[in-house]
Amino acid sequence: MAHTIFTKIVQGEIPCYKIAENDDFLAFLDINPLAEGHTLVIPKLEIDYIFDIEDALYKDLFLFAKKIAPAIKAVIPCKRIGVAVIGLEVPHAHIHLVPINGIYDIDFKKPKIALTDHQFENIAKDIREHIEI
Ligand code: AMP
Repeated sequence: MAHTIFTKIVQGEIPCYKIAENDDFLAFLDINPLAEGHTLVIPKLEIDYIFDIEDALYKDLFLFAKKIAPAIKAVIPCKRIGVAVIGLEVPHAHIHLVPINGIYDIDFKKPKIALTDHQFENIAKDIREHIEI
């Protein structure tokens, strides 16, 4: 079976700017972000549609995201961490966590921001330092 790009990240075949992980979940920066700190939270298990995830794993996925969001907010000045599930591009369930100050900040039609490798690394490092798992 061909693996999704996110499974390749889980397996270490493709690099990512890692935020946090445990046995079941991984959080990493979105490579094409709407805002600095835009993070994806995924189950390691390869499941396409988020609502196909069995209840316990689904609940734990959102609890894992709940631990990541305050760390993003501590690093990136914003009113809230917006939450979105789209899933039209990568067929591997994921939650977008996006720092927002208004509704338009989480408009996926918006032009994405460009960050250097160095900027991604620094943002990920700063967020990691605020995570308590
Ligand atoms: P969607 O499936 O519509 O929720 O969008 C998938 C998201 O995954 C997009 O925001 C992409 O920028 C992001 N993405 C795709 N490939 C990678 C990657 N290799 N590393 C980090 N983020 C990615």
